[in-house]
Amino acid sequence: MDPLLQWARKNQPALIRLIRDLVECESPTDSPGAVVRCMELLAESTSDIADSRLVDGSYVYDFRLQGVTKGRILALGHADTVWPLGTLRTMKFRNRDGRLWGPGVLDMKTGLATFAFAMRALRELKIPVRQSVSMLVNPDEETGSKVSRSTTESLARGARAVLVLEPGTGLTGKAKTARKGIGGYRIAVKGVAAHAGVDFESGASAIVELSRQISEKIAGFTDLKRGITVNPGVISGGTRSNVTAAYAETLVDVRVPSARDSAALEKKFRALKPFNRRCSIEVTGGLNRPPMERTRGIAELFQFARRCAKDLGVTLEESATGGGSDGNFTAALGVPTLDGIGAVGEGAHAAHESVLVERLADRVALLAKIVAHLS
Ligand SMILES: [Zn+2]
Repeated sequence: MDPLLQWARKNQPALIRLIRDLVECESPTDSPGAVVRCMELLAESTSDIADSRLVDGSYVYDFRLQGVTKGRILALGHADTVWPLGTLRTMKFRNRDGRLWGPGVLDMKTGLATFAFAMRALRELKIPVRQSVSMLVNPDEETGSKVSRSTTESLARGARAVLVLEPGTGLTGKAKTARKGIGGYRIAVKGVAAHAGVDFESGASAIVELSRQISEKIAGFTDLKRGITVNPGVISGGTRSNVTAAYAETLVDVRVPSARDSAALEKKFRALKPFNRRCSIEVTGGLNRPPMERTRGIAELFQFARRCAKDLGVTLEESATGGGSDGNFTAALGVPTLDGIGAVGEGAHAAHESVLVERLADRVALLAKIVAHLS
């Protein structure tokens, strides 16, 4: 058996203990203190193999490995979850039916623990690496990485590769080599209020105007063949049924596969003109996460990882997704980024969130192999 895989199997009980500690340290994205505790816990548990430092609210773990000559590899993760404090009362950590269960176990505490163990394996087996290795863990991915984005980008710039420890796709744990870009727009319409019975004609309904914008324009921006989706997900406006609405707005989620599609869509939104000239339209928003496009660098990195997996007797496949991650930022900088190589499981953000125990060891070995052999 591959020595890394053998090591990972032997040390699996300790890995599961760390995963349990991280899961039981609840870290909702809107409770900064709790998220910090989770990042500190990871710092304590890796203090014998890594130096940790705080950078603008994120934690960076610099692993002490042997053989470093040049270059850097950056592993990327987040410590926050979507689960509020107290979730553990009804969703306890459990090791049952071949799975680990609990809030944040898949997204993405197992990914963080797995990478830490992969680096531990390299140290204990005295396997040299060529490039220095750091893991950046941020506290705000689930709310859009607004604060950590610049830290992520500055650490990723110039790196040989970025490994994103998000869960893989499906129960085979496919890597992610493409992610759509994600944006949000707010379309606000101002109309003219009037008494709907006494003075109807002097009014101009913002609701009627917005409805037309959505049905005749915005809904048509979706292009499923190209993978562009435009979803008016929230709508509000008006005050009373007997008043023509002075105001209405909609919040629109957009997903685009390429930067070019994003620019074209932006133009369409900015070009919206009122059907009723007595109404006005204000468009705000834009792209929050640029698309992670499957560049040559990404394809090559995936092929390399696939060969590493094959050496471990595992088939690593690739996938594309409409969901975003911090990999979107690093890929947009042109840094080869491989995403979805954290835990294997299902149910992120859902009550059945869980990871497959039998896939823990091969992921530890895979991450270690990638880091050790990437030239
Ligand atoms: Zn995540």
